[in-house]
Amino acid sequence: MTKVNEGVFFIQGQDEFLPDSHVYVIGDPASNDLSVIDVGLTGKGSYKIQSIKKMGIELGAIKRIIMTHTHLDHIGCLSEIQKAIPGVELWVHRLEAEPLESGDDRGVYGMNEFKGMCQMQYGLKADAFKFKVDRKLEDGDKLDMGGMNWEVIHIPGHSMGGIALYHSSLKILIPGDVIYADYAIGRFDLYGADADQLKKSLYRLVELDVDMLLPGHNQIVKSLPPDYVMKTAKMWEPYLV
Ligand SMILES: [Zn+2]
Ligand SMILES: [Zn+2]
Repeated sequence: MTKVNEGVFFIQGQDEFLPDSHVYVIGDPASNDLSVIDVGLTGKGSYKIQSIKKMGIELGAIKRIIMTHTHLDHIGCLSEIQKAIPGVELWVHRLEAEPLESGDDRGVYGMNEFKGMCQMQYGLKADAFKFKVDRKLEDGDKLDMGGMNWEVIHIPGHSMGGIALYHSSLKILIPGDVIYADYAIGRFDLYGADADQLKKSLYRLVELDVDMLLPGHNQIVKSLPPDYVMKTAKMWEPYLV
C-alpha cells in the first residue's frame, strides 16, 4: 500500500488470469474513520488486509467499504474482507444494492457463461453474492468521512449503479472502471451496461476539475492533463451509440 495523497492510500490489484481491482483506502488515519473503496477479486482479500496492517492502520479504524460498482473483480473478496473486519459497513449505489440484497448476481458476473466458469474456478456457491447493504448511495450524496469530504457521482454505462467518488478541493477522482489512464474506458457489453449512458457519464466527468485519477485498474495518474477527460470522451463517442 502506498500513500498517494494525504488521506488517500493505494493498494495495487494483483491480476492473474482474471483482473483484480485496485483498492483505495481514504480518510485521515488519525480520524479512526477510514473507508475502503472496492475490495477486489475472489481470493484476493488477504494480501490487502496485510498491506493495510503494514501501513500501521488498525483494521478497527475501517468503518465502511464503498463499492464503485459490483463486478466480480471489485466485489469478489468482499466476504473475506468482512470476516477480517467484523462490523464493517457496506455502501453501494441503490441500483446495484438492491440486486445484491436480493441475491440477483447477474450484475456481479456480467454474463452467464462467465458465471459458470467462476463458480467452478472458485467453488462459489449460488448465493455467494447476497449481501446486506448498510447504505444505498445516490447521486449527489456528500460523504463526510475521515476528516474529508467526498461526493458521490452516479456514472452508469459500464454498470447500472456505477459511481465515482470525487474530492473537489483535492481534485481527486475515483471513477471505478468508467475511465482509465491512456485514454481507455470501461467495457460496455456486460449485463447492465449501456453505451449511451456511458457516453453521458464521461461527459459528466468532463465538468469536473481533476488532477489525480485513481481508476479501478492499470496506471494511476497523479497530474492529469486538463483536457484529458474531454479527449477521452470525444475519442470514444463514435463507438458509444
Ligand atoms: Zn467493472
Ligand atoms: Zn474492474
